[in-house]
Amino acid sequence: MSEKIKSNKDILQAPRGMRDFSGSEYYRRGAFFKHAQDLAESYGFFGIETPIMEHTEIFLKGIGEGTDIIDKEMYNLTTLGGDRLTLRPEGTAPVMRSYIEHGMGSLPQPQLFHYSGPYFRHDKPQKGRYRQLYQFGLEIMGSKNPLYDALIIEVGYKIIQATDQKIVVKLNSLGTSELRKTYTEKLVAFYIENKDALGERDQERIATNPFRILDSKDAQTVMVNQSAPTLVENLDEESQKHFDTVTSLLNDIGIPYEIDPFLVRGMDYYEHTVFEYVTYDTEGNESFALGGGGRYDGLAEMIGHNQSIPAVGLGLGADRIIESNEDAFISGHYKRIPLLITDSNLYKNAVDIIQSSDTPLFLYPLTTKIAKQISRMEKEGYQKIAILGEDEVANKTIIIKNLEKHEQEEVVLTDLNNYIKG
Ligand code: AMP
Repeated sequence: MSEKIKSNKDILQAPRGMRDFSGSEYYRRGAFFKHAQDLAESYGFFGIETPIMEHTEIFLKGIGEGTDIIDKEMYNLTTLGGDRLTLRPEGTAPVMRSYIEHGMGSLPQPQLFHYSGPYFRHDKPQKGRYRQLYQFGLEIMGSKNPLYDALIIEVGYKIIQATDQKIVVKLNSLGTSELRKTYTEKLVAFYIENKDALGERDQERIATNPFRILDSKDAQTVMVNQSAPTLVENLDEESQKHFDTVTSLLNDIGIPYEIDPFLVRGMDYYEHTVFEYVTYDTEGNESFALGGGGRYDGLAEMIGHNQSIPAVGLGLGADRIIESNEDAFISGHYKRIPLLITDSNLYKNAVDIIQSSDTPLFLYPLTTKIAKQISRMEKEGYQKIAILGEDEVANKTIIIKNLEKHEQEEVVLTDLNNYIKG
């Protein structure tokens, strides 16, 4: 591939589809991950962290050729030592690799994991679609029990519920991998028969990944799909039993879901249960998928292990969840109180106040006009600020300004702790 020459203007920008996080954006993301982690841990999940890269084959074999991720979106590199590595596009295959590598199958089963971090897909950047995206993931490895499918769906749902909006779980069953083989033959025959009516890109997919045609957004294809054979209506006994247990458990715990026979998701490793959390815009139209997942009993063998490891998991799109309600994830950071001093001479007075008080004050030397500084702090999300000037030092007081209520009071220093707590 030819190397593109970049101008200084280009170089001084983050790579396309990748963002810097600073100020409240940084803290919101941290608050979302903390919320998700606390909730997952209250259900018995433990944290795990894998490297940001894996051997390319882990993704090639697990996610599968013919998928968008593998065909178009991987960040592949060859190291100077000749290893072929890939920046992880998703979290499930790396966690499975780690489970196998460390023989976690000999621990009590199943093992429950949570993780979070950046993932990389060379996708077309647009709103809600980044090349460096952030996910919070959950995996339950080592059990076939459909109870764990329901549990994963429940925990993901509860994490997103903090955004206080209508969320629906779209649910489908892809059956077993054997069933999929016979079904795929039927599906291919159907698409060949209707080839001319399909969208252009989907015509090519008949040979490469006919399954993905089912959840195509192409208007022509959507019409054709209305009469396509679906898996969920043709399940074998085992798959039907598994799916019925998942739906009845979801009914029991009151998680709203809709069965969507066209939901297949973007990775080849899924079988049985697949699901997605979707939101609706103000007109009630389905907007983004905020997360999704499913069961992947065959993944361990696909990536080269000598036996299957039944497992189920999900990935939540942190970028989209946070953008869907920015007020939902307020970081504890903004409960701290910046103490503005109007002159460097007051440095020692301010430090003395901070050290002798048990309130969350921190020193903030003023380098710009006070009104400008206050309005910046208000925008950032601070609820209160403190101000110390010469007059206050002389009076042994401090000004506390409540930015939410737009009120301020001069507080006697000896009353400061009680004032802030009250
Ligand atoms: P997936 O790993 O493809 O199952 O995706 C799980 C969730 O991650 C999706 O439902 C999205 O919310 C989010 N997601 C996937 N791709 C992107 C992207 N390029 N940018 C931002 N979020 C994404």
